[in-house]
Amino acid sequence: MSVKDKVAVITGSTSGIGLGIAQGLAERGARVVLNSYSDKDEDHAIASEIAAKTSAQARYIQADMSDAEACRVLIEKAAEAFGSVDILVNNAGIQFVSKIEDFPTARWDAIIAINLSSAFHTTAAALPLMRRAGWGRMVNISSAHGLSASPFKSAYVAAKHGVIGLTKVVALETAEEPITCNAVCPGYVLTPLVEDQIPEQMKARNMDRETVIREVMLERQPSREFATVEQLGGTVAFLCSDDAAQITGTAISVDGGWTAT
Ligand code: NAD
Repeated sequence: MSVKDKVAVITGSTSGIGLGIAQGLAERGARVVLNSYSDKDEDHAIASEIAAKTSAQARYIQADMSDAEACRVLIEKAAEAFGSVDILVNNAGIQFVSKIEDFPTARWDAIIAINLSSAFHTTAAALPLMRRAGWGRMVNISSAHGLSASPFKSAYVAAKHGVIGLTKVVALETAEEPITCNAVCPGYVLTPLVEDQIPEQMKARNMDRETVIREVMLERQPSREFATVEQLGGTVAFLCSDDAAQITGTAISVDGGWTAT
């Protein structure tokens, strides 16, 4: 079985990795639901562009992933629109870089809510639909920071480690069903989320932009190359395929060797 005609919800998918995953699944014939917290014409236009490029059905549904109820409503609306939710990709994520003693409480709470708790709420809402359909795939976008730490990223590292823990529990609770749940752990991918960290890292480490990219970001990535959103789209599509039916509860690294060191 392929992803053709499956309904895929990808949270936080108006830019970067989420958009790459939506594009990758749509190219392979899935019907995709894109999501972010805003409700602008541009958001809806992104879904229309994917539909036009791939001839797959695509729709944008606004939902703020920091709000538990909104996470569940996103799944309900996706099922109303397309009749089911077969694939759930928990991708929405934000970052903030600061020493622990200066880390604002509101930033900690927002990162835990968006990067970790949203995956719990969407999973809880989607799982009954997958069970009813007798098939399901969940992919949680964690990070190399779900497997190892860096200074100044306390909330992000805690949330991404938590995502891998949640992934393992969901995998065990669905192990005897045709449903899988895995985490994907990208290294650095040059998306807006990473661009935005560069000034923060420059300040925290007193370095210029090129030095942050070379010595802080790609220093951890032995390939010395950013991973791409297309590669992440392909990895998620593989995890949704029949070949991956026995892959569940794992954390797949797409990090140029980062976590091998
Ligand atoms: P990005 O900033 O390009 O995209 C994040 C997406 O999430 C955007 O569409 C944004 O609108 C959406 N989003 C933010 N807050 C939201 C909210 N409250 N509700 C709904 N949507 C919201 O970031 P990205 O680099 O593509 O990151 C995507 C995921 O990949 C994140 O979970 C991130 O932690 C993870 N990741 C990224 C990298 C990297 O190097 N870029 C590495 C490892 C993991």
